[in-house]
Amino acid sequence: MMNTTLLIEDTTIVTMNAQRDVLAAASIAITGDRIAALGPMAELRARYPDAEVMDGRGKVVLPGLINCHTHISMSLQKGVTLAVPDGLYRVMWPVERSLIPEDVYFGALVGGAEALKGGTTCVVDHYFYAEQVARATIQLGLRGILGHTLMSRLGPITGDRELEEGLDFVRRWKGRHPLVIPWLAPHATDTVAAHWLVHLREVATHEGVGLHLHLAQSLQERTYIQQQFGMGCVDYLHRMGFLGPDVLAAHCIYIDEREMALLVDSGAHPVYCPMGHALSGNPMRAWELVRRGAGVLIGTDCVCSNNVMDLVGELRIAGASQKQLTGDHTALPADKILEMVTVDAAAAIGMGNQLGALAPGYLADLIMLDMRGLHAAPNYSLFDNIVYTCTGRDVETVIVNGQIVVQAGSLVTADEAELVALSETKGRALIQRAVEKEEDLAWLWEERYG
Ligand SMILES: [Zn+2]
Repeated sequence: MMNTTLLIEDTTIVTMNAQRDVLAAASIAITGDRIAALGPMAELRARYPDAEVMDGRGKVVLPGLINCHTHISMSLQKGVTLAVPDGLYRVMWPVERSLIPEDVYFGALVGGAEALKGGTTCVVDHYFYAEQVARATIQLGLRGILGHTLMSRLGPITGDRELEEGLDFVRRWKGRHPLVIPWLAPHATDTVAAHWLVHLREVATHEGVGLHLHLAQSLQERTYIQQQFGMGCVDYLHRMGFLGPDVLAAHCIYIDEREMALLVDSGAHPVYCPMGHALSGNPMRAWELVRRGAGVLIGTDCVCSNNVMDLVGELRIAGASQKQLTGDHTALPADKILEMVTVDAAAAIGMGNQLGALAPGYLADLIMLDMRGLHAAPNYSLFDNIVYTCTGRDVETVIVNGQIVVQAGSLVTADEAELVALSETKGRALIQRAVEKEEDLAWLWEERYG
């Protein structure tokens, strides 16, 4: 954290404040972990004569983006489920049965670094061995709403000890580090027993932490809940009193009209994962949910089902996919998309008065996009240009909690070349262990990649 003030000067600032002000030729001052001031360049230069100065000309400063559903540690398994029918069950879980804690740590370093470089300053993440994820995110300087993934059946790691660890993770990390906000993370409705879900709901309320899960993400999940309980997945959670504004529910794909209304009424947040949904051929009806009043958010999900952790690039896919799905070119406009990854997301994680906007007193989580390139000129419509012309590769600077973590497009907190090499060696070692143990996986792997 810097003791002196940092001034980003002569830039365009998309504040996402209540008035949605966009300031031209303005400066932003950061002191410690907070935004100290925003305003005209000359005024701030006079107020902070000793500040360290960063040139913001031709660039756009935005609140740091919040990726509301991901598993950064899965970077070692990049693309392994792509175009494999039932890939979750046939590839992902068999590979995960060979996971060791070290894989989760290195995967989180790789995935977290990619997320930062792509403009994400906060991830809502859950995975096995969450302790290792916390270790990596702190090292990278990435903010994380982190949970230890809990499964009682079907999955690669199950059992009561996992439930204990998930609860313990919250107790260990609550209030311990500014970058780690622990949540509870049941995996999904078909993989977590009802009595676990009820218990987790009670603990979440008691501890004041949120709940992050997958909901109605596969046809298998919906079919199982339908057969066991005679209802849809959302209805099932609603009847056990699980849903509420502190619930982030990824996917919500296999739901009916009534369940859409239940999501809206409960205040739970469906998380749309545009690229993963597009690649699977089954998108969430995100725009319809937004129109009905649901607090829909956006996530990249893991790189198994997306291949990249580029949240800026994901915005373009969000807009395009929903317009295509609805046949309506006005569906999910750019300003709404930007709200979903800033102010809306911050409010959903309970940090709406500290994150998601650029205002004095807010935490200094922000990104700067370089918009001087050929692709971004001429700039007639700023929000459309951010959403539809920019990708994560245009992210020049990333600041989290007042610390510069990406500068001139390069990681400050980790050696990128080292991470690339690590992802190759650790990733291949994991796959090799898995194919030696899993006969069906060995066959599938040989057929696809052999
Ligand atoms: Zn997921």
